[in-house]
Amino acid sequence: MSQTLHRRTFLSRLGSAALGAASLACSGSSEQSPAADAKPNIVIVFADDMGFQDAGFQGSPDCETPHLDALAREGVRFDNGYVTHPFCSPSRAALLTGRYQQRFGHENNMVFDLQDRETGLPLNEITLANLLGDAGYTTGLVGKWHLGAHPIYHPFRRGFQHMYGFVGGGHDYFDPGAPGQTEQHLIPIERDGEVVPETEYLTTALGREAASFVRQRADDEPFFLYLAFNAPHTPLQAPDEMLARFASIEDPGRRTYAAMVWALDDAVGRLEAALAETGRKDNTLLFFLNDNGGPAGNKSSNAPLRGTKRTLYEGGVRVPFLVRWPGHIEPGSTYSRPVSSLDVLPTALAAAGVAPPADRPLDGVDLLPYLSGNQSGVPHQRLFWRCFDGVEAAVREGDWKWVRVGREARPELYDLSTDLSEKYDVSADHPEIVAELGAAWEQWNAQMVPSLWPDHIFHVREGNRWR
Ligand code: CA
Repeated sequence: MSQTLHRRTFLSRLGSAALGAASLACSGSSEQSPAADAKPNIVIVFADDMGFQDAGFQGSPDCETPHLDALAREGVRFDNGYVTHPFCSPSRAALLTGRYQQRFGHENNMVFDLQDRETGLPLNEITLANLLGDAGYTTGLVGKWHLGAHPIYHPFRRGFQHMYGFVGGGHDYFDPGAPGQTEQHLIPIERDGEVVPETEYLTTALGREAASFVRQRADDEPFFLYLAFNAPHTPLQAPDEMLARFASIEDPGRRTYAAMVWALDDAVGRLEAALAETGRKDNTLLFFLNDNGGPAGNKSSNAPLRGTKRTLYEGGVRVPFLVRWPGHIEPGSTYSRPVSSLDVLPTALAAAGVAPPADRPLDGVDLLPYLSGNQSGVPHQRLFWRCFDGVEAAVREGDWKWVRVGREARPELYDLSTDLSEKYDVSADHPEIVAELGAAWEQWNAQMVPSLWPDHIFHVREGNRWR
């Protein structure tokens, strides 16, 4: 694309952003407007079980992420960026639908089972891939699915036209037979429906496939790429040459983890090179975020936050979160009002000029007017969380964090403006805030539905006392 043409489409995009959704929704015409020519590509890079602190741009003392740090310099960093759940599958369900996953019973993880028709993203939910695919985008998933293993839930049935990756919740990083192999290697890796062997280190392979997906697109072919790494989720496995880079880290687990994060960043670098070499970097809206807080078991660090994966303290749900769209979003800035993974879908749709589904509520908002300053106020008055059908619950409003860690537990209240680490429960000092946020949670919860299936870990831990 010539610089002149690029400039023209850039300007037309600026002018059409607000009108795009309405005009597409009403016209029903196949005529291509200049705005349609300028449709931005949409990329979501999703990490898995990465600690809040474990990137250079998050202040990590030992993880190195030069490509992600460059993204932060070129885009906006959300330092109050949240996901909707403190573990994998429900978090993904909300990301791809723009809706609280409790609206449709997708509140728990599932065990990998290709025969299980009962657990997966409910089939009447609409994904971002459905919406962008219907609008003429080429859609691709590279990496981890974890929204149902049975073929009825396959990415191909949920709007993705291309896939390289696996439908389960995790995977070994080396090919079968490598030292330290776990059962996860049994989950097949597939390319466009065919099981394929993979001999490259998996994170590196996902970067290769993401770059390849970008390079295979025609110049006038807008695309949506969902690059969902399983790194740095366990098992802790990294190539020797990457481990050597972190030889100064004494703890061998942390050393491996840092190498896995490095590999993820290196794979992002491959994607970035493909975007740059094909002239698409400026016309691509790119999100980077992580699916849930770092767990205790993979040597991640959520400092300075309290809690881990599977908890509703900040360490379970506040994540590294970036967005870049050159010419639209101020580079190198930080946005501090709470935002959510729920906002990815509405923001991407607005950028693409695609109308959201009219038959169901979305819980996310288009962040672009907030980032440009055209809209004041907060994207979300409140954000809500619920685990295990309400055994655990949380609300964020302004600087207040209300959290209840058991069904009968006394709610705790934290002032995040002075107590980011949630050390000082101030509920006794502010009973009216506790009551107000508790009532707000109940009101929100009344709009949600029960889980469609139990959480496999919680179920066992509670001795089959599910419900
Ligand atoms: Ca995860």
